[in-house]
Amino acid sequence: MNKTSPLRALFSAGDAAWPEYTAALPPAFAAQGLTVDVSRDHAPETVDYIIAAPNGPIQNFAPFTRCKAVLNLWAGVEDIAPNKTLTQPLARMVDPGLTDGMVEWVVGHTMRHHLGLDHHIHGQDGIWRAAYPPLAHNRPVTILGLGALGAACAKMLTGLGFPVTGWSRSQKDIADVTCQSGTDGLRDALADAEIIVLLLPLTDATTNILNHKTLALLADGAFIINPGRGPLIDDDALLTALDLNIAHATLDVFRTEPLPKNHPFWGHPKVTVTPHIASTTRASTASLCIAENIRRGEDGLSFLHLVDRSKGY
Ligand code: NDP
Repeated sequence: MNKTSPLRALFSAGDAAWPEYTAALPPAFAAQGLTVDVSRDHAPETVDYIIAAPNGPIQNFAPFTRCKAVLNLWAGVEDIAPNKTLTQPLARMVDPGLTDGMVEWVVGHTMRHHLGLDHHIHGQDGIWRAAYPPLAHNRPVTILGLGALGAACAKMLTGLGFPVTGWSRSQKDIADVTCQSGTDGLRDALADAEIIVLLLPLTDATTNILNHKTLALLADGAFIINPGRGPLIDDDALLTALDLNIAHATLDVFRTEPLPKNHPFWGHPKVTVTPHIASTTRASTASLCIAENIRRGEDGLSFLHLVDRSKGY
């Protein structure tokens, strides 16, 4: 690595993120022995790396002829991976802060449904109903997606005693988790689940993965928790299933965000809407990941968490 001429990184994300990253990136680069000039307005042909949010100002990556990699600030890449001007390697964000946030959110909503907390929070009517919730080991949970986030949630829920089944594209081997893959694996993973968590990326193969057919496989009284992406669920099929076998859906992500005011999910008694806050990339930890990946690039190592565009994630 040439330490005399600083590398140039272009930051392409919303204005709100800039102050946090200007504070967090320099020490992260220093810790990796890197000298990086990060700016929001380097000339394209001088840029070595782009740190990008999919909705950032740079949407045409073609002029960045020297750029060695685009480092995505988000875990989800469905809005950036299909960009035809982006021919550079694309790495997605795997950030311990993002993972911890997701684990906390998923565990919190799982426990809400598992313990039936709503009955006590909203049903205080002077009647003493001593109904005990089952123990976690009697409440099967299925997680669709066993990547960075799904596997971390699976491990935490297993630690709490839930029997956890996970489903992924390739077969996994995770201690104490029943791992399924493939079409038959999906059927098996959904068959007995009482709580379903969706942590799949949005691709052609995962769009509407919960539809009339697959929703019907779920147990009577099942709970759905979706922090993945809105189009993973067929909205109309879910609205129908909420009148049949689904007890409640907690949805953090939607086909259109913000969720339009007139959308039936807002007022539905069996739907909880949260405004895409399940987790977020945190500058303090994400900067360490960005710096590590740039250091790897400079050392001639492969980048971590590269997106496979043939798979779409
Ligand atoms: P990863 O890429 O690490 O994991 C994705 C998982 O989904 C992998 O296990 C993968 O299988 C599996 N998968 C992908 N396609 C298929 C398929 N066709 N069939 C079966 N399994 C499939 O992603 P992350 O865990 O980091 O993130 C998951 C998603 O969470 C993101 O894409 C994003 O949409 C969402 N997210 C939401 C946030 C929020 O605040 N609501 C915050 C952050 C992320 P395999 O392992 O075999 O490749």
